[in-house]
Amino acid sequence: MTLLVQKYGGSSVATIERIQNVARRIQKYHNEGHQMVVVLSAMSGETDRLIGLANAITKRPNPREMDALVSTGEQVSISLLCIALEAMGIKAKSYNGDQARIITDHAHTKARIKNIDTTDMEDDLAAGYVVVVAGFQGVTEDGSVTTLGRGGSDTTAVALAARLNASECQIFTDVDGVYTTDPRIEPKARKLDKIAFEEMLELSSLGSKVLQIRSVELAAKNRVPIRVLSSLIDNNEGTLITTEKDIDMEAAIISGVATSKNEAKITVLGVPDQPGIAFNILEQISNANIEVDMIVQNISQDGTTDFTFTVNEIDFDKALEITEASANEMGARKVLGDKDIVKVSLVGLGMRSHAGVASLMFKALADEKINIKMISTSEIKVSVVIESKYHELAVRTLHEAFKLAE
Ligand code: ADP
Ligand code: ASP
Ligand code: MG
Repeated sequence: MTLLVQKYGGSSVATIERIQNVARRIQKYHNEGHQMVVVLSAMSGETDRLIGLANAITKRPNPREMDALVSTGEQVSISLLCIALEAMGIKAKSYNGDQARIITDHAHTKARIKNIDTTDMEDDLAAGYVVVVAGFQGVTEDGSVTTLGRGGSDTTAVALAARLNASECQIFTDVDGVYTTDPRIEPKARKLDKIAFEEMLELSSLGSKVLQIRSVELAAKNRVPIRVLSSLIDNNEGTLITTEKDIDMEAAIISGVATSKNEAKITVLGVPDQPGIAFNILEQISNANIEVDMIVQNISQDGTTDFTFTVNEIDFDKALEITEASANEMGARKVLGDKDIVKVSLVGLGMRSHAGVASLMFKALADEKINIKMISTSEIKVSVVIESKYHELAVRTLHEAFKLAE
């Protein structure tokens, strides 16, 4: 008998039929004698619907109230699953974030888990209950509901798997594993049997939404392997995300292409070229808890320079406002904002030992007349920012150029 932690995403619980399908899957493991902790997302589209309601009132709703609002989605799905399990004669109990004692910090809408007290859940498991936990939500020590950022149910599942010493964390979704790129964009994408934490971290941080980045960080830190599986196909092995040493080192140079549409770019033109400008611009941004991704500063001309950086699209309005204020103070000429961009990245551990990945990437894009606006590289990734109209073309071009379908 083992303890299984399974997470089912929004599409896997999108309808009553799908919820009953999940219940049957759980029944199978339960009948085999496994203890089951099941983490659910909200029914597909529900979180977006709730956010839309708030945005119909104001562009910047109070984050505490946003969390109170969006956390309701998962409460609906967990109770429905328990009702479905009970209807099949299986004892089940739902836990919201507070009941599961998932304690987070106060960073509303992007809170981090600090601790989980699993005592009650373990008592229920020992008494033969299937424990069904609301993903994505937690509670502060003083009782405010928080959420963990979009896609946060993955992180809830990994955190529980780590805390309960599960041998792996199974993430059930609408694809049967992690592919060389988003199969919705490139149907020729190939499923990977295994991928290293490090590569998955890059893929997630560069936009592959199959796993929330924090879930991969937590899994890597606690050495909890993650398996991504389809909730619709039976008996598939999915993709195992594990430590590098468990992976065939003969593996391909590139393991995947990631893309992110949620990017926005801000350029400050004509900043006096003096020490401290990068600090002046970015300090205010980070004080507002906004993460900056790529940064480019142009060579100085006639004593002034241009400074460009990217942020997540959701932070764009706020970042633009802050940058305009600091640009004004510094006597910069102008601030430009551009939301019409995407970031496309190549990721692979093999890049460490193979030169020429970036140049092949740039050539392949140039052959398709795709102009590169920004570039950034690290040991195992190369990213470019391009105009959003080239998004799908760029993904397919790179998938082909690096022979990822083979
Ligand atoms: P869930 O609702 O189950 O959490 P998500 O929509 O968050 O599911 O994540 C699954 C989706 O991730 C897939 O439908 C797919 O379109 C997308 N995706 C992006 N990149 C990849 C990739 N490299 N491999 C597999 N899926 C990917
Ligand atoms: N329901 C949340 C979202 O849509 C959390 C999740 O699905 O993981 O982002
Ligand atoms: Mg998800």
